[in-house]
Amino acid sequence: MILPIIGYGDPVLRKVGAEISPDYPNLKETIADMFETMYNAFGVGLAAPQVGLPIRLFVIDTKPFGDDEDLSKEEQDQLKNFRRTFINAKMLKEEGEEWGFNEGCLSIPEVREDVYRNETITLQYHDEDFNLKTESFDGLIARVIQHEYDHIEGILFTDKISSLKKRLIQKKLQNIMEGKTRPDYKMKFVAKKGR
Ligand SMILES: [Zn+2]
Repeated sequence: MILPIIGYGDPVLRKVGAEISPDYPNLKETIADMFETMYNAFGVGLAAPQVGLPIRLFVIDTKPFGDDEDLSKEEQDQLKNFRRTFINAKMLKEEGEEWGFNEGCLSIPEVREDVYRNETITLQYHDEDFNLKTESFDGLIARVIQHEYDHIEGILFTDKISSLKKRLIQKKLQNIMEGKTRPDYKMKFVAKKGR
């Protein structure tokens, strides 16, 4: 089922996600719905707070990045085959040089900015079957994980840009909060909740 994606300004995007247990209600279904919602919006990652659930869960599929011809064949193949569910993720290490990449977010349509992040990360998480894993990632895969990990910490990529750039996108953010933005996928805006 495709779920509405929560827009910038909703307090759920600012909550630190709670850890979940294997008996979390409808977990398999929630994960399947999140993948479906992400694919429908042509995203490469989606975190549970973006569908209104303040829990430590996010899904990633970097396949669309695999078409980038500037990357090596090996990197392309890696990106084409990286589909993963992360539960109760905990960032253990972020290291290596910071590099900039033009990021966007399904909760913040029509806004893209360069964000600087470390090259390599080490993460502990449970997969969809609750197997505990500790793994390192780098490059674009690390980048997408860092963006989604921020979501379960209540952080958005717009928090990581200069105050000048923040001022420049203020009007766009205001439009999202007022529900004036019309992306090609279903969204739920803070102003449309009848408060
Ligand atoms: Zn995002």
